[in-house]
Amino acid sequence: PAPQKITILGATGSIGCNTLDVIAQLGGRAAFEVEALTGHANIGLLAEQAKAVGARLAVTADEGLYGALKSALAGTGIAVAAGASGLLEAAEREADLVMAAIVGTAGLAPTLAAAARGADIALANKECLVSAGPLFVAAVAEGGGALIPVDSEHSAIFQSFDERQRHAVERLVLTASGGPFRKMSREEMAHVTPERARAHPNWSMGLKISIGSATMFNKALEMVEAHHLFGVAPEAIEVIVHPQSIIHSMVGYSDGSVIAQLGAPDMRTAIGYALAYPRRPALNVERLDFARLARLDFEAPDEVRFPALRLARLSMERGGVQSAVMNAAEEVACAAFVAGRIGFLAMAEVAEAVMDEMTGWPPAETIEAVFAADAEARRRAADRINRLERAA
Ligand code: NDP
Ligand code: MG
Repeated sequence: PAPQKITILGATGSIGCNTLDVIAQLGGRAAFEVEALTGHANIGLLAEQAKAVGARLAVTADEGLYGALKSALAGTGIAVAAGASGLLEAAEREADLVMAAIVGTAGLAPTLAAAARGADIALANKECLVSAGPLFVAAVAEGGGALIPVDSEHSAIFQSFDERQRHAVERLVLTASGGPFRKMSREEMAHVTPERARAHPNWSMGLKISIGSATMFNKALEMVEAHHLFGVAPEAIEVIVHPQSIIHSMVGYSDGSVIAQLGAPDMRTAIGYALAYPRRPALNVERLDFARLARLDFEAPDEVRFPALRLARLSMERGGVQSAVMNAAEEVACAAFVAGRIGFLAMAEVAEAVMDEMTGWPPAETIEAVFAADAEARRRAADRINRLERAA
């Protein structure tokens, strides 16, 4: 078969690097023609990747780094672009499949553009669905491409969800590792350092999502993501803590059956599934050894220590831009925590306070309206963080 044309938005990140690894495993240039790769700060890696796969275009999201990328790729024939317009160019170029793996709201505009032109989207960037769920789903439908989740929980549900049995789907059960502070008291949590918070027990991931696992804000985003992705009511979306991260998530049906997808905690399985869909790829990843595993544990999540889950439900109940507000405020609070400016517990407090302040905000009919709500939530979160810092 002819090679599939692929573009990777966020190639230099954790998901991006794993995607390039999967591409190499699936046959490299014989199987995939890389149209464009994008990165942000890591110019050295971006240039190296673009050369290794023979990309046609390399883009840094940072305008200020255009010159650096240009000189790193001088003489290679690889085109170079930068900034928001560069990201859009990457998204709009002809590629059958776009891996959306930019972190945060920065991924929204390019992913939406790729969806609107009809590319199949392998979606890692959960913020697209959290901040602009209905708009994003509509853009995909209008464009006519497929939307294949890469987030491991949603990939598991996608693999376990038989569309012909949609009428019988009772619940989606998202598994959560519980993060590094699963057993920690609230008092102890108040004093944890960013270094401890970013050390995830099972998965190796980017910074924001690692902190998001410690607060369970990542799971909160995933609840909203699941709601939009699968069209299932918020009340039918559950979270269960499963420390081994072997069951990646489940679908419960009306006959009492629960269908799950299991695997080693390795993002390459979900990435490979999205890249090869509807076929299944052959991947060199760890195989489960059940005799050695011996047991799988489960426990109910504690919403007092992890208020993020409650906030996710609240945001869906309130509707409108509340999920976008939750995500934006949490992104700002997460950066402030990483910078040592606020404590661990303050992240959820900031998010909830900004959500409460913005309950009257009008629902977003356009992407610009989403950005406006997002920007307002960021301003308010930054204000609160400044006040918290002054008070400390
Ligand atoms: P990383 O932080 O590792 O990588 C993020 C990527 O986005 C990098 O290529 C980075 O460039 C780029 N980037 C950063 N800031 C900007 C910006 N302002 N504009 C454009 N590009 C930018 O993140 P992950 O790979 O961990 O996560 C990517 C997405 O996938 C997130 O939405 C995350 O929630 C989701 N996800 C990740 C999982 C994982 O296992 N890592 C699992 C499930 C979902 P550079 O590094 O060059 O600065
Ligand atoms: Mg996940």
